Amino acid sequence: MQLKDSSLLKTQCFIDGNWVGEERDDVINPATGEVIARVPHLGKKEAKEAILCAELAFKPWAKLLAKERSAILRKWYDLIVENADDLAVIMTIEQGKPLAESKGEILYGAGFIEFYADEARRIYGETIPTFRKDSRVIVTKQPIGVMAAITPWNFPSAMISRKVSPALAVGCTAVIKPAPETPLSALALAELAKRAGIPDGVFNVITGDAPSIGQEMCENDAVRFVGFTGSTAVGKLLMRQAADKVKRVGMELGGNAPFIVFDDADIDAAVEGLILSKFRNSGQTCICANRIYVQDAVFDEFSDKLVAAVSKMKVGSGLGEGVNQGPLINMRAVEKVEDHLQDALDHGAKVLIGGKRHDLGGTFFEPTIVAEAKQEMKVSREETFGPLAPLYRFKDEDGVVAMANNVTAGLAAYFYSRDIGRIWRVAEELEYGMVGINVGILASAETPFGGIKESGIGREGSHHGVEEFLEIKYMLMSGIDG
Ligand code: ADP
Repeated sequence: MQLKDSSLLKTQCFIDGNWVGEERDDVINPATGEVIARVPHLGKKEAKEAILCAELAFKPWAKLLAKERSAILRKWYDLIVENADDLAVIMTIEQGKPLAESKGEILYGAGFIEFYADEARRIYGETIPTFRKDSRVIVTKQPIGVMAAITPWNFPSAMISRKVSPALAVGCTAVIKPAPETPLSALALAELAKRAGIPDGVFNVITGDAPSIGQEMCENDAVRFVGFTGSTAVGKLLMRQAADKVKRVGMELGGNAPFIVFDDADIDAAVEGLILSKFRNSGQTCICANRIYVQDAVFDEFSDKLVAAVSKMKVGSGLGEGVNQGPLINMRAVEKVEDHLQDALDHGAKVLIGGKRHDLGGTFFEPTIVAEAKQEMKVSREETFGPLAPLYRFKDEDGVVAMANNVTAGLAAYFYSRDIGRIWRVAEELEYGMVGINVGILASAETPFGGIKESGIGREGSHHGVEEFLEIKYMLMSGIDG
């Protein structure tokens, strides 16, 4: 691995400012199948220890001036940006995405740290006109305490910085368990946190046995917030586990994004937006277009232009020059794409381009477009999480909105139109937490990311993001007027 600073490659867990644990679990480069490192396999006991360290670190961290916490977070941000090239290499090697996308993710994730470093100084309470003579009403906001979070492999760095930075900004401390596929990006963030002067115990990273670490996070009294990004099934399990201790949860779960192209759309822009939305990270994002609805009159033009654009995509190792699509994360992911594709073909779909594993072998898969997709196909109900784009033909606005909403997920939706009336109507009717209008990519530190229905609870990013980590305290002060 060609790193300018090889000390960013950490293979032990980070608890209370110390590197601990014996390297055991393989981390594999999905482009080559090679083992690139081993990380510890910690469990319940070590999770408990990490939580205790975070608990002990909480009060002193919360007592710092907001400005002091802000300066430390800002330093962490600066170090991440300075080391972005190395962090991108580490990410591409363990996750597979093209280097440019990895660097994009590092900077996107760092952007949350920058944003919340500023936001730390803007946590305002309020006064409320009193309801009782001789008294005053004050409302303050206090950090909830220790937050614990479990993160996925598709955005190995940004899902951590996006969760942790608002928590740290307001005075909470954190214990993170990254995905077993991509622990190195998380551990590199920990190394930079240490260099930035984040006090010991404030930010901890543990790898290992997911169910037992998750259970400890949910059951331990010191943890007041459990955050998770990942599959809906695991999210539901964590919510059930956290219910017994009435813990607050933040859940970013699966999506099933509709992408609608109306007949008044700018078709070239829609093609460009779809390529970004569908094929970024090989289609392995929860906000990826999963169902592409194209209105009758523009169907042929859109599909022809899309096929032409996809035919130019280059598949290969994420480290390769000009590569647009890397490997999928593992064979399970490839099999899911194949299963959805086969089911679509069984229901009458036609392959326009792609349609099989890539000649490169391993977990590489061809960017694939199929036409004649129908409601009864699996792709209509489930997230594919891979480079398969099914095109549905539709007739009218009401019908397509009903189809778009007819799923249990409600994360992101996209549509293309130039009719201002239609834009408002459709944007308001779509049952999704985020709607991209004439754009295929929409996440940023300044905006609230999150879903409705079974896609989750809570928001990450924007000033809303800090509320997850704050308790409201109401104080009634009496005996004032003498
Ligand atoms: P995927 O199937 O795509 O890997 P998961 O939802 O299983 O998605 O994984 C997301 C994160 O959840 C990972 O960090 C993983 O280790 C963790 N995880 C998986 N199963 C459990 C569990 N039973 N309890 C807690 N965390 C889990």
